[in-house]
Formats: sequence, structure tokens, C-alpha cells
Amino acid sequence: MRFEDLTSPEIGALDRDKTVLLLPIGSVEQHGNHMPLGTDTMLAEGLCLAAAEQLAPNILVLPSPWYGYSPHHMRFPGSITLRPDTLRALVADIVGSLVRHGFRRIVIVNGHGGNANLVGVMATSLGEDYYGKARIAGLTYFHLAAAEIAQLRKSEKGGTGHACEFETAMMQHLRPGLVRLDRAASIYPETGTPYLSTDLVEGSRVSTYLDFADLSPTGTFGDPSLASPEQGERFFAACTDVLVRFLEDFARWPVAGGSKI
Ligand SMILES: [Zn+2]
Repeated sequence: MRFEDLTSPEIGALDRDKTVLLLPIGSVEQHGNHMPLGTDTMLAEGLCLAAAEQLAPNILVLPSPWYGYSPHHMRFPGSITLRPDTLRALVADIVGSLVRHGFRRIVIVNGHGGNANLVGVMATSLGEDYYGKARIAGLTYFHLAAAEIAQLRKSEKGGTGHACEFETAMMQHLRPGLVRLDRAASIYPETGTPYLSTDLVEGSRVSTYLDFADLSPTGTFGDPSLASPEQGERFFAACTDVLVRFLEDFARWPVAGGSKI
């Protein structure tokens, strides 16, 4: 299931019409006092692998480039950010290489809110670059599964934002040894306007720069005290299910130009 585990001849033998490639992207950035810097990439990759397991054999997960667009976390130690153009160039070079090898279906699976707008730009601009040759899609998994997360969450508005009820539970399920819940602090940030929300399910209706350190002393947005491994298992299963259903549909999308989609 992992692209990098295969040999070059094995990649060469894959059916170009059927194979879907997933590129997980996330971030290396602060996740409060209680979760690791790699949380977003670990979760995106974990979901890709879980979905690929269900959809085998016509799906592979690419190695993640790990870093994302995280300037809003830079006041916290350990955070690393790419410039927007660097991330776009990095993903464009990866996708371009895959298209040169004849792959036609590539999905960018994003796990970091700060990348979301760029993922939209990358998917549409790369889709135009390779129009008629390859179908490129991009998604942010917690936006794709927003309705399911809203059903499962226990917290009120503001409780699922960053290193929150949702992400903490997901990591308690996927990488429990990396979560230090005793160090977690719950914070419901106030933006002071109804147009800007820190809730990842609700989202903001307007874009602007929000520096996390201005809104939360620990970098947490939300309520990790409501997280549990059981809740994480439910969130993870729901997100996997939503991703699998999308990928089943995506596998049928036409690649040739001139079609409706
Ligand atoms: Zn995160």
C-alpha cells in the first residue's frame, strides 16, 4: 500500500487506468502542550492507509512531504512552515513526476487547516495543467467528513479546532503513546466576530490571518478534555468511511477532456 515500499518494476506494472495514488500532506507544527508536532501528517497518512486497506489493490499511498503552510504557528517552538509557493512547487513536482510515469488519478489528502485553501488552488491548477491526461483532486479530510464529525462530537462550538476534542481523540486511537493528556488545556478562543471561527467543523466565512499565539497561550483551540480512545475510534472510522466512499466515486471520474465532471 505504501508507494515507497515497491520496486521500480512493480510500479511500472501497475494498471494506469485503475490505480489511484494518495498524497497525504499535513504539517510540522505545535499541537498544544500534549500532542506531537507531526499530528496533522500522521493523521492524514493514517487515514490514507486505512482507506487504501479497504480499497486494495488499486490504490497506493505516497510518502508525505510532511511540511505545510504554518506561519500562524511560528511563535510556538518546533513549528516549521513552508512558504505557500514552496508547498505549491513541491506538490506540483511530485504530481508532475507521477503524471510522467503515466498515472492518471491522484488525490491530495490534507490534514492541516492552514493548507486547505492552497490544496484547492493546487488541485484546480494542476488539474488544468494535466487536463485530459490526469485527474487531480484535493481534499481536507475533516472538511470532507464535517457532517459525520458534527454528529459524533461532544463539545460545543469551539471545542474542535486544533489539538482539540477531535484531533486528540484521533491521535489517542492512532498513536496513543504520543498523547500526554495530563498536559492538555482546554481553551475556547474568542475571535470577537461572528465571521471568524476557530471551530474546524464550522469554519470561517471570511479569510484573514489569525496568529494562534494571539488567541491561545498553549496553541490549543478546543476541548481535549472530552477526548477518549473510544471517541477517537469512532471519529477515525467515520473519517475513513467518508474517504473510502469518496475514493470509490473518484475512481469512476473520467480522465479524458470533454466530460461533465
Ligand atoms: Zn492539527
